[in-house]
Order: sequence, then C-alpha cells, then structure tokens
Amino acid sequence: MGSVTVDATGVLRVGVIGTGMIGEDHVRRLTSTLSGCRVSAVTDVDAERARAVADVAPGARVHDSGEDLVRDGEVDAVVVASWGATHEQYVLACLAAGKPVFCEKPLAPSAKECLRIVEAEAAIGRRMVQVGFMRRYDTAFAQLKRAVDAGTIGAPLLVHCAHRNASVPGHFVADMAITDSAVHEFDIVRWLLDDEIVAVRVLKPRANGHGRDVQDPLLILLETAGGVLIDVETSVNIQYGYDIRAEVVGESGTVELPQAGNVVVRQSGGVTALIAMDWRDRFRQAYDVELQAWVDAAAKGGATGPTSWDGYVATTISEAAVWSMGTGSRVPIKLEDRPVLYAVS
Ligand code: NAP
Repeated sequence: MGSVTVDATGVLRVGVIGTGMIGEDHVRRLTSTLSGCRVSAVTDVDAERARAVADVAPGARVHDSGEDLVRDGEVDAVVVASWGATHEQYVLACLAAGKPVFCEKPLAPSAKECLRIVEAEAAIGRRMVQVGFMRRYDTAFAQLKRAVDAGTIGAPLLVHCAHRNASVPGHFVADMAITDSAVHEFDIVRWLLDDEIVAVRVLKPRANGHGRDVQDPLLILLETAGGVLIDVETSVNIQYGYDIRAEVVGESGTVELPQAGNVVVRQSGGVTALIAMDWRDRFRQAYDVELQAWVDAAAKGGATGPTSWDGYVATTISEAAVWSMGTGSRVPIKLEDRPVLYAVS
C-alpha cells in the first residue's frame, strides 16, 4: 500500500468526473450515505449540470476539466463516471498523479485502451484502480457464489442468465446490449465460477417490435475453460421492469437468484412480487457496499474488488461478442499474459 491519502481530519476527499445519472448518484452516496469521505470537487462537460450536482455536496468545487480535477491538491482520490470513451484518459491521469481511482464500467470501450491502463498500473506495482462491477457486492449474488463455492450443488455445469431492461433511451444502439448490459454478466460469471471465458457466440431471434431498429433480444453463449456453458439473454425493451436473473445448474442441484422483490403479496385471487424498474432500485445496496469498500481501500492509498485486469477481460469478451453479433460466428477469446499484480491467489 502507498501513503495514506486522507486529509488532516481523516476524511478521504473525493473528486467525481462525470455527473450524469450514475455520477450524480455516487455524489449523493459519498455525501450522505457512506462514511470516511466527502466530495471535494466535481466536473462534467455540462458545467451547469456539474454545478447543480455540486450543490448536494457542501464545499465541493466545480472544475472545468477532468485533468484539472485530478491535479487539485484537495482531491485525494477520484471517481470516474463520465462516458466510457473518456475513461482511459482520466484513469491514466490518476495513476500518473498517484491517486486511487474508482472507474465505472466499462474500464474502457476497447481492449487496447484497457491494456494501457493495466500496463500503467502494473508498472506502479500495486493496485490503484477499482472497476465498477457492483454485482460482486450484491447480497443475492454473494449468496449465489457462496452456494457454488460450498459445493452445495456439485460442480457447476450450466449457467442461465437474463439481463432485462424495461426500455432504453433513444441513443441506444444494438452493440450496447453487449458493451453496456451483458458486460456485467461477463464479469459476474468469471467471478462466480472462478473460471475464464474462452469463446462467445451471439444469436439473434426475431426482433422485439418495441426496439425500433435495434436488434433485441440477443442470446449470448459463453464457454469457459472448465467446460461450463452459459447462456445470457439480453432484452432491453421488455416493458415490465428491470430483471436480472442467474441460475447455476450443478451436478446435483441448482441455485438461483430470487425471481423478484423481497416480499410476495397474495390478494384478490392473485400473487404479486414487486419488481425494480431500473438498476438504481435493484442494486442500491450493492453500490453502497462497493463504494464504501473503495473509500476504505483508497484511504490507505490502494484499491480492492474488481481489478483493471477484470475490466480488460470483460471488454475483450465484449469486443468478441460484438464481432460475433455481426458475423454469427463462434469467436475465441484471446487474452494477453496476466501481469503478476493480478495473479489469482
Ligand atoms: P450519463 O448519464 O450520460 O452521464 C455521463 C456524464 O458524463 C454526462 O453528464 C456527460 O455529459 C459527462 N461527460 C462526458 N464526457 C465527459 C468528459 N470528458 N468529462 C466530464 N464529463 C463528461 O451516463 P451514465 O449512465 O451516468 O453512465 C456513465 C458511466 O457509468 C458509463 O461508463 C456507464 O456505462 C456507467 N454506468 C455504470 C452502471 C453500473 O451498473 N455500474 C450503471 C449506469 C452507468 P454529456 O451528457 O453532456 O455528454
């Protein structure tokens, strides 16, 4: 670990780059929910939006650019929540400045950009980057992993996943069902199975009429080095809600996430369970735990949880899946050598 990066009062001063949907949510979380931190600076290409978000964080100043924010002496650590194409430049700036950084997924849109981050961090020789794969901090996913690790269902053989959104905004294009949505599944199944994805194939059924000209849904088939097969349905216009599913089929049983909600209501001749309408509802607790873990690690100069290497692997699988969506072919996943920093213990 490096030097402790908190201020004289023991509080980690966090700068947030990008105050859009999730950036704003993280500013609120860092200000009102988490402990040991405060937001000392924000920036966004939309300066008015940055100023509005800064209003919820007492004392936060607004910078003209991400680079200015990273240079700020009153910023100990940085959250990058801007558009994916800008992630690499800000994460590299943080590494050059010796500041721990939490980067929202995807680490970067291309494997080449991710690798440059991996190489820069590996050259420093210690963890400084955490990637925002928050599902690893979700209670239900953690229970799923504990059951698999305990051997409760024998060796895992198959995993069925679904990633369903009620609807998506107008700028959504077909690739984003892979690069924005399924990238979470690419990370979570590697983590869940302690196994590596070796090939991917994307199949396209009849298109959902709610999807304008976006091909939706997709069926993504993944193969692991250990021989497990995984199917991931992405449906981004399914209307009824935000629904994340995962079921692991083992040699002697199955284990799955609860279908929806925490309570079931029986009334008027029917049974209902409430379902989240978006990712903020469904993963609120996971975002809180994830970012608190980062704050605690960053206060000691480091990072924890999903690594730059995990970000690189997830983006590599996304790239292969996008290629498969275009060609219909099975695409093998080729990874560079894993630096010692990210060795699996
Ligand atoms: P968003 O609402 O579009 O917010 C992105 C913000 O960053 C926008 O305000 C955008 O401004 C701004 N921005 C773009 N380029 C910038 C730059 N160079 N410097 C500073 N700000 C810049 O998107 P979002 O949904 O919050 O997503 C942001 C990131 O978080 C994405 O990488 C996304 O994949 C990720 N995300 C992760 C999760 C998760 O579950 N972990 C959930 C949602 C989003 P303009 O709009 O003016 O371009």
